[in-house]
Amino acid sequence: MLGPYGSPAWEDNAPYAMGWGSARVWFGVAAPAQAASSATAVEAYLKGLYNLERERDTLPWILGRIHDRFSNRSPAASLDETPSERALRADVDVINAAHSDPRVQAVLARAGDSDAPPEPDGAAADAGPPTPEDPLLEFSGLANGKYSSRHLSEFLWAQDFVRLCGAASPLDRAKLLEGRLPGAALPYVLVPMVAAFTIDNAVFTRMLQNFLGITGHPLPHSHDCANAGVVQLGEHNQHHIQVCPVFGRAIKAHDEVKFLVAQMVRLCGVANVVRTEVRLSGPAGHYDCDVVYFDRKTHKRIVLEITRVAITQASISGSGVLAGPDAVLSILRARERERRRCARISAIVEHDEGNTLFIPIVLTSCGGFGPSAQKYLRHIYGRARENSCSDMGVGQPTIQTTWNTLHASTYWNMRLSVAGAAKDAQVQNDILLSDFTRNLVVVGRQPHPDPNFASYVLPGRPHRLAVALSRAA
Ligand SMILES: [Zn+2]
Repeated sequence: MLGPYGSPAWEDNAPYAMGWGSARVWFGVAAPAQAASSATAVEAYLKGLYNLERERDTLPWILGRIHDRFSNRSPAASLDETPSERALRADVDVINAAHSDPRVQAVLARAGDSDAPPEPDGAAADAGPPTPEDPLLEFSGLANGKYSSRHLSEFLWAQDFVRLCGAASPLDRAKLLEGRLPGAALPYVLVPMVAAFTIDNAVFTRMLQNFLGITGHPLPHSHDCANAGVVQLGEHNQHHIQVCPVFGRAIKAHDEVKFLVAQMVRLCGVANVVRTEVRLSGPAGHYDCDVVYFDRKTHKRIVLEITRVAITQASISGSGVLAGPDAVLSILRARERERRRCARISAIVEHDEGNTLFIPIVLTSCGGFGPSAQKYLRHIYGRARENSCSDMGVGQPTIQTTWNTLHASTYWNMRLSVAGAAKDAQVQNDILLSDFTRNLVVVGRQPHPDPNFASYVLPGRPHRLAVALSRAA
């Protein structure tokens, strides 16, 4: 699967693929879960059949023997176990061990509650939820509970996630956590059936490199950083291209998201007209807002401020909370607070006596949504349902959808997540290409920097031959 990318860096980072937020690529962890899940289903069926036949008094002896066999397994491995029973016992043990690991429970507990209020300085991060006392699967009572293989693999996946987090560098850990944010993995499940999701290979590769925290170009790299002059990129600043201002990278990606949010609000029927780049004035001066609209239902003025945050070495240094599973969320929450605290905008909000709502929308550069953005998007999708705009084909017929973006929530989550990440990647590619070109070794004459220059139009005295010719005529 890694063939085309082939470098050691890709293979080191391959297990990240398992944590692509809502989209998980299952490999390695799936087999024990599938085996155990099939066993629970088969044994539950046989147990049902056994009970039924016994009531009717028509129990075949062989069914009785089978039932006795799987419901009276010894707690420890015994000598007369068949090879398949031994394999099943090993799978059950693996799953039970993962399930009872408190760190696994902590990882899984955070999957659903990312909207929870911030914890005081990560105090609760170590405590986690209580460890379950009983094993999840009972080897001699598999028939007592049916578990989907997806449910069982969650524990194995989380165990692998914990192992990777433990061994990873701070940046890799932050990238792992970023990958678990809602929305963060959506660019990797897009189905390229319509224009918005048809991304070219170079852009997709660059997006994936950004997602995995891979530099993606050889180091050292001589980079022309516009006004900052030529910079040498090495180990310490290898991720600079992800935050480089050249070619308006940040503005272009920001605009892509901003305009899309405006479209989303209108198409989900929340407002008839939505404006971007709006100047609002207040007692502390004016503030240029990203997106402003009046909500059709509440008649309130809604102000959205969109911020994209790149999770790089620079953004995580000094955040101090990186050990906890909430580290990246804390960075995003801090950015939201920063936005809310801005004196001019808070003066505008206060001055309007509760008729203006200010909502910071923070996204990571790989498309993960911050807590306030998650809450806002849920609100928008709820409104889309109320307005019968939730079913994309009927409610938002102008939008081209694919089979995995049939609802307002799936479409707009994916679109928002992809837009910023893809535009960012595209401009990063442009920056790299211009660097590569500038770094080519040249051994001969180059064009004059002025494109109007022509070597045959020389200023000064006319050519002697030209003068002679004009005389002759
Ligand atoms: Zn630069």
